[in-house]
Amino acid sequence: MRALVLALPLLAAAPGALAQADHPELAAIAAAVDPDALRATDTRLVAFGTRHTLSDTASPVRGIGAARRWAKDRFEALSSACQGCLTVVTPGQSFTGARIPTPAVVQDVIAIQKGWADPGRVVIISGHIDSRNSDPLDGAGDAPGANDDGSGTAAVLEAARVLSGRRFAATIVYAVLSGEEQGLYGGQVLAAYAKAQGWRVEAVLNNDIVGNTHGQDGKVVDDNVRVFSEGVRVAETPAEAAIRRRAGGELDSASRNLARYMSGLADRYLAPFHVRMIARSDRFSRGGDQLPMQEAGYPAVRVTEADENYDRQHQNVRVEGGVAYGDVLSGVDFPYLAKVTRLNAITLAALAWAPAPPAEVKLAGAVSPDTTVSWTPAPGAADYRVWWRETTDPRWNEAQSRLSSGGTTITLKGVNIDDYSFGVSARSADGYESPVEFPGPAGAFFR
Ligand SMILES: [Zn+2]
Repeated sequence: MRALVLALPLLAAAPGALAQADHPELAAIAAAVDPDALRATDTRLVAFGTRHTLSDTASPVRGIGAARRWAKDRFEALSSACQGCLTVVTPGQSFTGARIPTPAVVQDVIAIQKGWADPGRVVIISGHIDSRNSDPLDGAGDAPGANDDGSGTAAVLEAARVLSGRRFAATIVYAVLSGEEQGLYGGQVLAAYAKAQGWRVEAVLNNDIVGNTHGQDGKVVDDNVRVFSEGVRVAETPAEAAIRRRAGGELDSASRNLARYMSGLADRYLAPFHVRMIARSDRFSRGGDQLPMQEAGYPAVRVTEADENYDRQHQNVRVEGGVAYGDVLSGVDFPYLAKVTRLNAITLAALAWAPAPPAEVKLAGAVSPDTTVSWTPAPGAADYRVWWRETTDPRWNEAQSRLSSGGTTITLKGVNIDDYSFGVSARSADGYESPVEFPGPAGAFFR
């Protein structure tokens, strides 16, 4: 057995953590993630020379076409090993734009692991397979993209390897996107595909630049990963904005509550590795494929390493003034990438084994000392938990939660509706818990 630095499940959740029962299955999933498998995948991706969206698509050895076909083959091999548990599709659309001067087809490679109980409910992990160098239009020169985003693509394929042998209540989708560097086109293709299929997308974990630990500032940081989440949802309508301005919810989009859920899982299963929640949808003036998913109304987060190194992103491979530039394999820390992949894998599994978050969460209790929280039943839920927290607290805390015994309304005596933020999660009979859903359209997971 490989030696793994993995914390045993803690006896009690870390302070401020989301409640999660101890599930040996999640610890087993975390332990199965293999840094050597991640290294092998990323090494293969770099060997395509460039994976630029405008690169050669016909060559069997170089360019985006060969890379996409290889990813498709990998998914199909995994599917063969699990009696056809994955359906592999390659949706594409033709785009032109500022970084696509003549029409080019942007094609994603997507593997679908259908859930047995609620197959229309979908949780997604994504990364982008395309790469670039200093010139965003250079489809010919080398662009190894080991970290941006070979690391995220390797995480997607490793999550598929680890999870595809298991059965889940909800559907898990493993998405290898392209066209990101040309304008987030692969995320648009995925959003359109999800809409066309009628998927109820509960979560998108977009992994982009997740493998470097040596920051531009000279620090080495390998004990945390950043999870970016939108506050006010970008897909909000004017009518929904009016409700939010009255009732709150700026800090409680479904994306934000997904980030809190990941933070709680990390504290319980991956400590001392932890999530650093960042309360914005992406880094300053930069973007990723979670943005088109949020625009389509889906809860989505961006997962990115703790401390980026800009000399190693979007650069021709070269040495200049004694500085090594370029996105090469030596800039990827595979034990760290394994930690990030574990976070993704246990989040996907916990979500897909849990019921959906309760819908139609409503509050009542104005001008009274008590608050009544109600919701509609979630299919497969055995019971529910109502949460309340100070409106300025960043996380839910189990000390301020109460279990219902199957009912769909709880009155919290002496908890004044004016003073707290509220939410509800759903639990399966075996203790898998959904994220917390905040009342109203500001917090709804499914629109
Ligand atoms: Zn990227």
